[in-house]
Amino acid sequence: MKEYKPFKSGKVRELYDLGDSLVMVCTDRISAFDVILKDPVPEKGAVLNKMSKFWFDFTKDIVPNHMLSIDTKDMPEFFRTPEFEGRSMKTQKLEMLPVECVVRGYITGSGWESYKKEGKICGIELPEGLKECQKLPEPLFTPSTKAPVGEHDMNISMEEGIVWVEKFFPGKGKEYMEKLRDLTLTLYKKCADYALERGIIIADTKFEFGLDEKGNIVLADEMLTPDNSRFWPLKGYEAGKSQPSYDKQFVRDYLKANNAEILPQDIIEKTIAKYKEAYELLTGKKFA
Ligand code: ATP
Ligand code: MG
Repeated sequence: MKEYKPFKSGKVRELYDLGDSLVMVCTDRISAFDVILKDPVPEKGAVLNKMSKFWFDFTKDIVPNHMLSIDTKDMPEFFRTPEFEGRSMKTQKLEMLPVECVVRGYITGSGWESYKKEGKICGIELPEGLKECQKLPEPLFTPSTKAPVGEHDMNISMEEGIVWVEKFFPGKGKEYMEKLRDLTLTLYKKCADYALERGIIIADTKFEFGLDEKGNIVLADEMLTPDNSRFWPLKGYEAGKSQPSYDKQFVRDYLKANNAEILPQDIIEKTIAKYKEAYELLTGKKFA
């Protein structure tokens, strides 16, 4: 049997190269306050993998995506073990576009910091008097550079984005940035409206796109998971204060109160239950 080694280990995911395609594996690792915790959260990887699959299916009429299969039968024998089952996605291998396509429906995080300082986000002027976590008049496309390892991503305006993409794809900066903006806003609106009906506010999220061998723009990476989005419970939502994170609130509260890095079993269990609840609310299916 051919053995595979990941060519990349992110904070949470591991990537394997199959030559013409990739296998992305979602581990059970969890980060809070930018630290990877010692204890995994069992099943988190599988829950997030299936959440991505749900959204890729849900939006395939808007833009093609890189998902080929989450069935390990479609992967080399090496992946057909319990270690990979459920948490792996075979995808097309793309040339990634160097932009993180962030979209914000509500003002929080770095967007809120920037608004307090200068009244705008990524060069976009906003009305005065917005409160923390308030719904924005319109969802905003607030891109950032996808920086090489070791460098920080930087928020950029549309104009800066065009110049940035030109560096990698001469003559294509404007065309690509406009397409990315339009796709990002269309995807966000459809998915956020849907989630809201099911009791979850998608405050913001990030999409990544790449090019296939024909030069078509394809949606890639993971999609609308709690690891790349802010999900808030609709129940109890109120602007003017920070909102509880849907999935990691127990973990953060515990770490703050106990100054510890190790999670007790009941906190781990409550956290898994939250991930599954989000999955079940969003997909309308039991997590099996
Ligand atoms: P973080 O842990 O903060 O997310 P990271 O983004 O470097 O760090 P991963 O998200 O695990 O780590 O890595 C996934 C990488 O694979 C990203 O660089 C992403 O742009 C890239 N990627 C996603 N989809 C594809 C694809 N279809 N083809 C090629 N590369 C892809
Ligand atoms: Mg990533």
